[in-house]
Amino acid sequence: MSSEQRGNGRRAWVTGASVGIGAAFARRLARDGYDLALVARQARPLERLAAELEAAHGIHARAVAADLTDAAALREVEHAVAHDPHLALLVNNAGFGTIGAFATLDVDREENEIRLNVVALTRLARAALPGLLRRRQGGIINVSSMAGFQAAPFNATYGATKAFVNSFTESLHEELRGSGVRVMALCPGFTRTEFQERAGIDASGIPSLAWMSAEAVVEAALQRYRRGDVVCVPGFGNWTMSGLAAALPRALVRRIMGAAAGRVLQHR
Ligand code: NAP
Repeated sequence: MSSEQRGNGRRAWVTGASVGIGAAFARRLARDGYDLALVARQARPLERLAAELEAAHGIHARAVAADLTDAAALREVEHAVAHDPHLALLVNNAGFGTIGAFATLDVDREENEIRLNVVALTRLARAALPGLLRRRQGGIINVSSMAGFQAAPFNATYGATKAFVNSFTESLHEELRGSGVRVMALCPGFTRTEFQERAGIDASGIPSLAWMSAEAVVEAALQRYRRGDVVCVPGFGNWTMSGLAAALPRALVRRIMGAAAGRVLQHR
């Protein structure tokens, strides 16, 4: 096991860690010996997970209950991240999506989506980097989405937030070249978590082949992060789809995405 994998007093901060992809990161990183700081709004699920992982892996895990769309709460988490001398990995994972014709959506919820998926991710990255750079090790995984690769009609704000994450991460990756610090965007496709239900998406028509488990997504992500990759699209199916979308004319991809999302919405 490489030193990148072993905790030895190294801590990973994981946002959105109570369920889904964030919880899968927490479990995998605990197994690798990382101490953990687990962030989400609801304290109880975080406390249960922290206690379970401490007992199973002999690591130290703490629950940090915070709504990252709240400016004051976000500042507190930023402060804690910036002053953590053991910070080795920040997993900027908390995020949510909204679906529907943009002109009909609740604009406050759209704004909160930008606050969580973009503003919190950016501010936490800014808080983490000076310490990582001083120590010349560790890094950041920004959880993005395949939705960030092309237009996402009827999912417009979500797609735009993830396009931001992809561009931001690629730029940082280049800025950090030679610094010893890594940054990678993780771009999953359909992953079995609470995400679709929270977004109000009826996922029943999506073929089972299109789905990945959160555990498989995290396994691929950590492998690619350790390799020093800039973008990870987990799973062969997702990788093929993203290659196809990149090869086809952008206008055609936009039309296909719009037609597919429109059909899903009609059946709601
Ligand atoms: P999930 O199962 O809905 O989990 C979301 C997590 O974020 C929960 O722990 C939730 O806990 C936390 N969270 C939500 N709002 C928050 C807030 N305001 N402040 C702090 N924490 C908050 O979703 P997931 O699928 O694991 O999603 C994780 C990431 O993967 C997201 O960035 C998502 O965009 C991305 N992704 C998911 C899929 C997919 O199909 N699942 C595909 C592509 C990308 P609380 O409710 O307690 O706060």
